[in-house]
Amino acid sequence: MSERAKVIIIGGGFGGLSAAQALKSAPVDVTLIDRRNYHLFQPLLYQVATGSLSAGEIAAPIRGILGRQENTRVLLGDVDDIDPVAKRVKLADSASFDYDFLIVAAGSQTSYYGHDEWQKWAPGLKSVEEAITLRHKILYAFEVAERMPDAAQRCAWLTFTIIGAGPTGVELSGAIAEIARQTLKHDFRSINPEDAQIILLDASPRVLMAFPEDLAHKAVRSLAKLGVQTRMGAMVHELTRDGISYQSNGSTQTLSTKTVIWAGGVTVSPLAKMLAQRTGAETDRGGRIKVGPDLTIANFPDIFVVGDMALSIDKHGQPLQGVAQVAMQGGAYAAKAIARKVEGKPKPAPFHYFDKGNIAVIGRAAAVANVFGVHLWGLPAWMVWAFIHLAYIVEFQSRLLVFVQWAIQDVTFNRGSRLITGAAPTDFNFNHALAGQNAVEPTVAKKNEPAVA
Ligand SMILES: Cc1cc2nc3c(=O)[nH]c(=O)nc-3n(C[C@H](O)[C@H](O)[C@H](O)COP(=O)(O)OP(=O)(O)OC[C@H]3O[C@@H](n4cnc5c(N)ncnc54)[C@H](O)[C@@H]3O)c2cc1C
Repeated sequence: MSERAKVIIIGGGFGGLSAAQALKSAPVDVTLIDRRNYHLFQPLLYQVATGSLSAGEIAAPIRGILGRQENTRVLLGDVDDIDPVAKRVKLADSASFDYDFLIVAAGSQTSYYGHDEWQKWAPGLKSVEEAITLRHKILYAFEVAERMPDAAQRCAWLTFTIIGAGPTGVELSGAIAEIARQTLKHDFRSINPEDAQIILLDASPRVLMAFPEDLAHKAVRSLAKLGVQTRMGAMVHELTRDGISYQSNGSTQTLSTKTVIWAGGVTVSPLAKMLAQRTGAETDRGGRIKVGPDLTIANFPDIFVVGDMALSIDKHGQPLQGVAQVAMQGGAYAAKAIARKVEGKPKPAPFHYFDKGNIAVIGRAAAVANVFGVHLWGLPAWMVWAFIHLAYIVEFQSRLLVFVQWAIQDVTFNRGSRLITGAAPTDFNFNHALAGQNAVEPTVAKKNEPAVA
């Protein structure tokens, strides 16, 4: 039996992985537990959903990343209980593991703000599985429209609605517009994919609320150039197979749209709720667990919570955002605090988040970036975005593959990963969508003659 302190890390995402890596030389035994066997680079998920990249290019096996780290073992398992008094973590398969220090970095999940029934018609984008479902949904919509003789129905199939105008919604709408206007423009005979409507909708007064206002305006302009309509101040209250209705300026609007994507927000996982109950920790409205300046839960100095699960307050009294940098810096801080404690050194200074800024990409060579307070847009912002994303993808091989894919796409606009494979999305049946519709003649949509109503 080892005499060294046992550190358990729950989650191999940005926070957990960075904690594990920072403990590499510490005199501790680390066990990282994740329900998936891979680390996922979520900021590029939208490129999997829109056929630019394949899943393998943005995910890497955790075992491979930490394989050479001798003090660390990786376990595949779903943590469903934590006993903070006995200092024990329990998995769904009943296995349990004792710890001296615990770092909880289990991330977040999509929130439908009390309307979980909407998930069926408007999938979110949080996992590889969801990204592939979305890709299928987007590509099927063009396929159904190609065979749909009814003009109104065809129009609904060519209307793509993205709910949520944060970075993910902006990125998705820009990418879908590029698919419609560039990638698919020669591929169909009955429809003209360029007639697709892409609508970005949010209850907020403007897009990219976390960005400075001037950059949000630049983003709207870039989106408009790609043909994306932005509808702000729009509060969705109904979402069905056939479309959505929303409140805007005091009136109810309806929209016939067969492809709706939810980029509306996140909430914590059930694990966070359980941990809050067990420890009596305070939480915010989204369920995030309040941590102190040392990232531990009040009265539990051996439990650190980092990343999207944590409610951590900055020096201005504002909660830190749920972004990768916050998770990574939090994970590294927790690791440092543990290493110092086992080495008998004093506690490190309180956690201080070093904010490098925000970036959102809109399309080919178009992005907005607030880097150390400097506002960039267009190509310079896109270059910063590309550099940062390539630098942070954990596997060197993936970095090369992604770089090559982007280079090819920039020249050809071709999205290599647009095969429809496996089963159709669970909410979708191609035959059902076309049932009762007579075959549509391949009319070859002419450029000046819209194929949709
Ligand atoms: C589509 C999308 C785009 C984004 N774009 C950006 C961006 O451009 N820039 C940016 O900074 N941030 C971005 N983010 C946010 C960023 O990805 C998150 O803030 C970050 O991943 C949080 O890190 P984390 O370690 O807290 O959680 P995660 O990285 O989500 O990792 C959580 C890990 O915990 C595991 N896990 C969860 N529950 C359990 C359990 N019960 N048992 C075992 N394992 C469990 C999960 O499998 C996962 O591996 C984006 C997020 C999404 C979804």
